[in-house]
Amino acid sequence: MSSSALVGLGFDICAIVICLIIMGNYYSVKRKHTRTEMLFQAFMIASFFSAFMNVLSLIFNQFYPQFTPSWLRYLARMLMVISVHSVGIIFMIYAVAESYENRNLPKSVFWLTIILIVADAVSIAIYGFTYTMPVQMSAAAYPVIINIMFVCHYFALTATAVYMLVNRRFLRVRKQVNILFFILFNLVATIVQFYTNIQLSDFAFAVSVMLIYATLRRPEDEIEPVTGMFNGKALKEFLAIQIHAGRSIKLFVCEIKNMPVINSVLGHAGGETILKELASRLSALTGKINYIYCMDGCKFAVLFNGDEQYRQFRQGYMRAIGKRFFVSGTVVPVDMFACLIRFPEVGKKVSDVESIMKYYRDNSAGGGVIEAAKEAVENIERSEKVGYAVQKALDNNAFEVYYQPIYDLHTRKFSGCEALVRLKDAELGYISPNEFIPIAEKDGTIVDIGRQVVASVCRFIGEEKPQRYGVKYIDINLSIIQCLYPDMVAELECMLGEYDVPNSMITFEITETASSKEYKRLQSNLERLHSNGYKLSLDDFGTGFSSMEFLINFPFDVVKLDKSLVKAYMEEPKYETILQHYMPMLHGLGAKIVAEGVETLEMVRTLDKLGCDYLQGYYFSRPVSAKDYIEFVRVKNS
Ligand code: C2E
Ligand code: CA
Ligand code: CA
Repeated sequence: MSSSALVGLGFDICAIVICLIIMGNYYSVKRKHTRTEMLFQAFMIASFFSAFMNVLSLIFNQFYPQFTPSWLRYLARMLMVISVHSVGIIFMIYAVAESYENRNLPKSVFWLTIILIVADAVSIAIYGFTYTMPVQMSAAAYPVIINIMFVCHYFALTATAVYMLVNRRFLRVRKQVNILFFILFNLVATIVQFYTNIQLSDFAFAVSVMLIYATLRRPEDEIEPVTGMFNGKALKEFLAIQIHAGRSIKLFVCEIKNMPVINSVLGHAGGETILKELASRLSALTGKINYIYCMDGCKFAVLFNGDEQYRQFRQGYMRAIGKRFFVSGTVVPVDMFACLIRFPEVGKKVSDVESIMKYYRDNSAGGGVIEAAKEAVENIERSEKVGYAVQKALDNNAFEVYYQPIYDLHTRKFSGCEALVRLKDAELGYISPNEFIPIAEKDGTIVDIGRQVVASVCRFIGEEKPQRYGVKYIDINLSIIQCLYPDMVAELECMLGEYDVPNSMITFEITETASSKEYKRLQSNLERLHSNGYKLSLDDFGTGFSSMEFLINFPFDVVKLDKSLVKAYMEEPKYETILQHYMPMLHGLGAKIVAEGVETLEMVRTLDKLGCDYLQGYYFSRPVSAKDYIEFVRVKNS
């Protein structure tokens, strides 16, 4: 028994222990089945097997040859040689897969692997035939065939280094270091083995396994804690790979719409019970073949490759959510939203999942499973572009304000106007406020647009002094989102004060909405505006909810009949009765009445007879630039 064999045995046992500890840790948590994960597993198992066979081979061939049958000594020796050599090849493929993470592996690596396997297999076979026992030789006296095997091994390592260098921009530095370490440690191990006959290569493999394991993503980061399923982050990564590879997939997504209500009524424990129950119903449907993910709390996703698979799942899904959900024996209504997104026909990128879900959640009422259509993505893209144009206009102060004259039926003069924002984008052209205001309301930029509009109107009044031509007030539209902004009143005061604009000259138009959640804040802001001397106008009367509560609780000075109501009044007799009753009521509440959308002389006459106070519409003028508006009132009011 040589001392070098003993030292080698010590290193091999260390290698086995390292591999076992890492395997234990690795398999104790749920893992994704990605290509690199699978190849890492192969590398880890091969490294363990190699060290294990080396120990067996040492025991059988060097320590106890007299007690071991020769066939077993031969077998151990051959398996050891095969396993050591396969580690090098597996590592090469693993390293290439790391650098080609989201891409298909290059053909060259396939052919290289074949060449290496054939060369190794031939060498090992020759070695096997010529191998004679007992072998107690020193490294320097290795047969030529062993040296050829070393050449093969180093050829694999060199190829690994070349692939890594070519693709280094796709590899994180720590991964590059790991690969370099593997190559260098193998080189050192060979030199040590050559001069001292101490086998270090298995120890080098084990240390590499450890280093790579340390740089693997922590699987806990990809698990949703309540359901134990893969989370949204894991889905995004997997989807990115599928999209990149151009694979055709179907992504089913569903969401508990009323989760916030469930959480607030039943508490988080109740919410979790529902979530777990739904997770288990979905898991029961998908079995092991499909990937199922739980994204941020109440959304689930399932990936399908085939139509048939999905069809069956869909039937099961409808049954599964049709069954009642219970928390502590009480039935809990669970309101589901579900949608199927096809990649690459409908969905194109990972972020489309969230935006498509949001789009359909906001724009569809019904249950069942909605099949996402191309138009959804087109609309989403258009919204994104418009949102971007709004941001650009805000940054460049590029919003313009147009003014539409309002005709006073009592004085027969154009005593006021409505300020209307205009957006012209270099790429998208003119964008209607009907399109960009709702988008700006969703992303909050409406507050900044509002600021620019108010500033622009103030500047207009300060510079042009339209009062000179009989203009008594200017209407400014306020979005409900702006009205809820806590510092809104103070900020408006400040801007108007800066240009010395009399408060009584400004009327704020507000559109009635379904009773706002923050009714109290809205009420206090509007009351403060009113008590500061601004006028308030209820816009688009007759379109929304016409809640009496809104009219009674807010101090409106003006009510604007919406153009659709005015049009209906002109065309359908039953509206005559309705409006004839509304007019005295609105007047009785102390409000002046403006009719919008007045397009013909006939409308002017009819609305005059009805008892309106003001008229606004294309019949008099379209909204025009500040300069044209001044010219308009100068001529018309003289
Ligand atoms: P709105 O407040 O009801 O404004 C009246 C809209 O009717 C304007 O459309 C105006 O051009 C149009 N209009 C005026 N007379 C006639 C007519 O005789 N016939 C027809 N068919 N239409 C007429 P615009 O400028 O496209 O604005 C659309 C909406 O965008 C506005 O509806 C308002 O809700 C919103 N908006 C416009 N500017 C602002 C703003 O500065 N802030 C906020 N928050 N919203 C704004
Ligand atoms: Ca308006
Ligand atoms: Ca209106």
